Amino acid sequence: MAYDKAKMAEGIAQVRENIEKAALSAGRKPQDILLCAVCKTQPTETVRESAELDVDLFGENHMQELVANFDGGAYLGRPVHFIGHLQTNKVKKVVGRANIIESVDSLHLLEAIEKEAFKQGTIQDILFELNIGAEETKTGAPVDALWSLFESAEGMKNIRVRGLMAIPPAFDNSDESRRHFEALRKLFEKAKERSYQNALLDTLSMGMSASFEAAIKEGSTLVRIGTAIYGPRNYTKV
Ligand SMILES: *Cc1c(COP(=O)(O)O)cnc(C)c1O
Repeated sequence: MAYDKAKMAEGIAQVRENIEKAALSAGRKPQDILLCAVCKTQPTETVRESAELDVDLFGENHMQELVANFDGGAYLGRPVHFIGHLQTNKVKKVVGRANIIESVDSLHLLEAIEKEAFKQGTIQDILFELNIGAEETKTGAPVDALWSLFESAEGMKNIRVRGLMAIPPAFDNSDESRRHFEALRKLFEKAKERSYQNALLDTLSMGMSASFEAAIKEGSTLVRIGTAIYGPRNYTKV
């Protein structure tokens, strides 16, 4: 059953209010932070209803859901980002649909995206995803691989790097999370100073339902929110 639209509207209003508070307390403009609705596992009908509400864009984790929702017109013309682990054999379906692929974490994947974008005659926007907490179980490139990824992208005409993404370790204590958000922001700033070719660095994607205020205080420009909009996820479906 679809999640109640009024509940989603309430969740979104609450998130917007907290984005505003966090931004203002950090001396930032609330409108400089995009709200990405992470709709993984939600039925297409729920995604469409949420697209009528105050969200800026969508985030998809699975290629099949991206294809179904995109081709079904569920986003109502809003942008969609791919934020899940991406296998190279699924790149074909994601390039051209996702406005930004946020989860690029290897040279192998970067090359596959470049090749497909060339084939489609498009320039694919991407973020590099970093394993900022150096956790064994997490996706994302190791931090020390970042500069060589940027250097590789410099030679790729169908790639444009827009910034960085990370999913830091989950902590109850937001000071702990903040340390990782700060580390990511510093890498983002360093990348900007290095002015790489094929890079237009305007996107720092960090912060989820439990941590977005801390992320905003550290400079996030895009928060990825699932649970606070759609409620708890039912994974048995996917
Ligand atoms: C699921 C997911 C989110 C949203 O998480 P919530 O805690 O439900 O807000 C954000 N980013 C990524 C990459 C995700 O997979």
